Amino acid sequence: MNVSTKKTKNRTILSGVSASQGYAIGQVKRLEANDTSVKKRSIRGDRIAYEISRFRNAVKLTQKELQIVKNQVIQSIGIKEARIFDAHVLILKDPFLNSEVEKMIEAEKVSCEYAFKKQIDEFIDIFSKQDLELTREKIHDLRDISLRLLSNLSETELGLDSIDLDMPAILVAHSLTPSVVSAFDQSLTLGFATDTGGATSHVSIIARSMQIPGVSGLSQISLIAEDEDIIILDGYSGLAILHPTIEDLSIYAERIEREKRRKYELLSLKELSPITLDGKHISLNANIELPLEAQSVIGNGAEGVGLFRSEFLYFQNELPTEEEQFQSYKQLLSKLSDKSVTIRTLDTGGDKLVKNLSLVNESNPFLGWRSIRVCLDLPDLFKEQLRALLRASVYGNLKIMFPMIASMEELLASKAIFKEVQAEMRAKGQAFDENIEVGMMVEVPAIVMLIDDFAKEVDFFSIGTNDLIQFTLAVDRSNEKIASLFNAHHPSILKMIHLTCKAAHEHGISVSVCGEMASDPLSVLLLAGLGVDELSMSPWSIMETKELVRSLNFSDLRNSALACLKLTSAHQIDAYLYKKYGPLVMDINANSPIHLSEDEEIVYKGYEIKFPRSKP
Ligand code: PEP
Ligand code: MG
Repeated sequence: MNVSTKKTKNRTILSGVSASQGYAIGQVKRLEANDTSVKKRSIRGDRIAYEISRFRNAVKLTQKELQIVKNQVIQSIGIKEARIFDAHVLILKDPFLNSEVEKMIEAEKVSCEYAFKKQIDEFIDIFSKQDLELTREKIHDLRDISLRLLSNLSETELGLDSIDLDMPAILVAHSLTPSVVSAFDQSLTLGFATDTGGATSHVSIIARSMQIPGVSGLSQISLIAEDEDIIILDGYSGLAILHPTIEDLSIYAERIEREKRRKYELLSLKELSPITLDGKHISLNANIELPLEAQSVIGNGAEGVGLFRSEFLYFQNELPTEEEQFQSYKQLLSKLSDKSVTIRTLDTGGDKLVKNLSLVNESNPFLGWRSIRVCLDLPDLFKEQLRALLRASVYGNLKIMFPMIASMEELLASKAIFKEVQAEMRAKGQAFDENIEVGMMVEVPAIVMLIDDFAKEVDFFSIGTNDLIQFTLAVDRSNEKIASLFNAHHPSILKMIHLTCKAAHEHGISVSVCGEMASDPLSVLLLAGLGVDELSMSPWSIMETKELVRSLNFSDLRNSALACLKLTSAHQIDAYLYKKYGPLVMDINANSPIHLSEDEEIVYKGYEIKFPRSKP
């Protein structure tokens, strides 16, 4: 969004969510959304009323949003600058525009996205023929409104202007998608800052794998940052400092140096085993998204891959063929042939939209037609992936797991298809590893209620805490507004993990945790104590976690976890853990707050500043 008002160049500090740890200092490069992806879509005659009501709802929602943004701009910039949003609301309410859109939906039987875009483009066309400064601003406004309304209709994932960097920069956008982040040029992208997004969204997860520092949920950074503005990102504390002072710059230059030294020191742990002081081995594995990351698995001393998110192979214009998939899996397994590699079958949907496969316009995408549900509905697609995996299995030590299992029927159907593929390959004389372990993700709360039954059916469990927390606590993992409710130490989560470990061990199978919780130091203590056998995390977190594991006694962790299971709130659990282990888990990068003068505090109005891992 482009606010066509003069921006202040005052030091402005915004507080958001830590998306990817690390610091960055650099110049802003804005990524503007574009709406070129709105294609003509015809609708049936009996859908006209529905389409018009979708349009009206989106208009109302956009008006509400504009009101919120206006209030934020009043607080952070000023009342004069916020007036622009009144103009936006007026355009959005324009009776002529609205009736033209509705008439077009009715007469031409087209989607409301298309009708709206067409009408806006016509307005823009008329204005562009007039050569007045005022009309040019109006065009800006129309573009802004168009993007906002279209993104609310969520019919399409709005594209972003292509990211051609010719010098290092910090990317600023309203929002990002996993496929856009995976296309970032790692050598030139110093960091990113967005208005939206939570700490366990897939945008954050990928950024962490790529070691690109990021802060999300900044709410209005894309409104106030301009190209070439100087900005500091603090991906530990979730802060962005726009137009920093000389003092800020020198503080952060020193923090960047300290971070480098720390990474260097940790390298000495690479060859050491993750064993507690009293001899308990806790396996530390890596979460990766692409075969090329095999190098970072080795470089960071991981024992194996606990989660390969295979859906990242599907983020391209065409779905990958069996042969393309086979080559990717083979590359990964051959490179890591002495390590175990757990590949998860396609887990699409939610915030991971795959072209030609994901449904658009679902009202609850995380609960929608996704993941194993898609694979079971499209068995040919599923079999193609399983065949590619089995063919590659002879090159290494492969384990396969199914995501988002929510019922016994789904698990048994997935296993049946897997067996069918094996039988077909046997009949054709195609080689594969006959002893592949098959596991499932535990990420839907219903599974935990029936965990004994599932433990009899699989070779291992992998707990996906990102989704387990989201579904158990009814908190959207990507929504920055409720990020503080996404609480891994909620007593229900601890109990679920404990039950899962108990059932698994009674049936002689292992439990891994591959959600982001596995790399949070305080959570590591709990998970180990609750009986989790393996932790899987971004390769870059392995060394720090190893250092922590090697400094603890398992018997003590066990007792602490059992004590925490008796507590009834996350706050009590945190307080207990901080009291016992505070100094041990205090991250040297969790900095003391930077200095704020009195009027700068105004910037924070409406935000609570949190410095992670400080004592509660
Ligand atoms: C999880 O849900 O915790 C998980 C590891 O899978 P993803 O983040 O890809 O949903
Ligand atoms: Mg998941």
